[in-house]
Amino acid sequence: MHAKLLAARDQVLARNPGEIEFHQAVDEVFESLGPVMDRHPEFVEAAVLERLCEPERQIIFRVPWTDDSGKVQINRGFRVEYNSALGPYKGGLRFHPSVYLGIVKFLGFEQIFKNALTGMPIGGGKGGSDFDPRGRSDAEVMRFCQSFMTELYRHIGEYTDVPAGDIGVGGREIGYLFGQYKRITNRYESGVLTGKGLSWGGSLVRPEATGYGTVLFANEMAKTRGRSIEGRRVVVSGSGNVAIYAIAKAQQLGAQVVACSDSSGYVVDEDGIDLDLLRQVKEVERGRLKDYALRRGSAVAYVEGGSVWDVDAEVALPCATQNELGETAAVRLVKAGVKVVAEGANMPSTPEAVAVFQKAGVLFGPGKAANAGGVATSALEMQQNASRDSWTFEHTEERLSEIMVGIHDRCAATAEEYGQPGNYVLGANIAGFVKVAKAMLAQGLI
Ligand code: GLU
Repeated sequence: MHAKLLAARDQVLARNPGEIEFHQAVDEVFESLGPVMDRHPEFVEAAVLERLCEPERQIIFRVPWTDDSGKVQINRGFRVEYNSALGPYKGGLRFHPSVYLGIVKFLGFEQIFKNALTGMPIGGGKGGSDFDPRGRSDAEVMRFCQSFMTELYRHIGEYTDVPAGDIGVGGREIGYLFGQYKRITNRYESGVLTGKGLSWGGSLVRPEATGYGTVLFANEMAKTRGRSIEGRRVVVSGSGNVAIYAIAKAQQLGAQVVACSDSSGYVVDEDGIDLDLLRQVKEVERGRLKDYALRRGSAVAYVEGGSVWDVDAEVALPCATQNELGETAAVRLVKAGVKVVAEGANMPSTPEAVAVFQKAGVLFGPGKAANAGGVATSALEMQQNASRDSWTFEHTEERLSEIMVGIHDRCAATAEEYGQPGNYVLGANIAGFVKVAKAMLAQGLI
């Protein structure tokens, strides 16, 4: 790491002990920023990096609720309002038992640069809870969401902070959260949350956007080497919202998606994943991939446990969660001939895995660029809410593809400008950082 960055990095690590995912995210960005510090001494002088790493505001709160048996349950709620240089804080809420401050901060930190890359006027934030929605009834999820919003509402607003979904938070949860916000504030403030239902202020294409965008990004990277993803063999990890729509878009573009996974195992379906069945099992029944395999019949292999990265792929799309693809998996994928990796999840590849891909000349699209279509379409939802309008699917999808091509080109041009053509990690980190840093400088010492 560049000498000018080491002191700042040590300070960040010492100030945030034990937050390993956050440290990892900071290191990953700092590794790219050396040449920027040489070119922009004003950033060093104004301690932009040190300021950027310290969230503007962090809120931690108690979330009490009662389960269906009448027992009182307590969870912890978080909202980290990270950086508002470019616009209101924007980023999802994650409900998962692994959530603690270090996870929320890693996600919030990434979100700052991701949101900057979209070109939309949105700052960075993230939140969530260690609540586990799995196995909970709708009524329990509703009571939890109502209690969560009973504290959160005072911190958010369409000009302040605009949450959305992430792992464990989909249309159902956003509905309960919005209902409670409206009830407490007596305001129909559509722009306070994104990912809303279509009839109450949501945007077409928002559910599809992260997965669609990831594949569009993969396709743009592939085109720089003269071949799109059409006809290629694709493996996707995960089977949630991001994975499902990544599979859908890859299939639309003529790729062959042969495998996907959930936390219990993975399926290999050489005839191509049956999207209708997958959606029925995962979205409607909230079931397991094992059920998909049972219903699909003998042509499909279900592997309990194990890693979906054991399946050969030309295009790999990690769409599950952080650090799900490590060095061993990366080495195996490279041996099997992987050409393109685009991250639909946030930080799914470990730093060692990224190094393996880059060394082997694999086109690697980091999450903060490749999965930015989700939050970009959230910004389009905010735009529709502000103008009390709703756009067609075609128009919204057109905007999403323009945005994804824009992000791709911005990362590619920045990597080239800094002498490392094809290095999308460097391009994304520098392009995102410079935009935020300049805005911070212009706004004085805040
Ligand atoms: N959670 C998504 C992300 O990681 C979307 C956030 C949003 O739409 O605000 O970018």
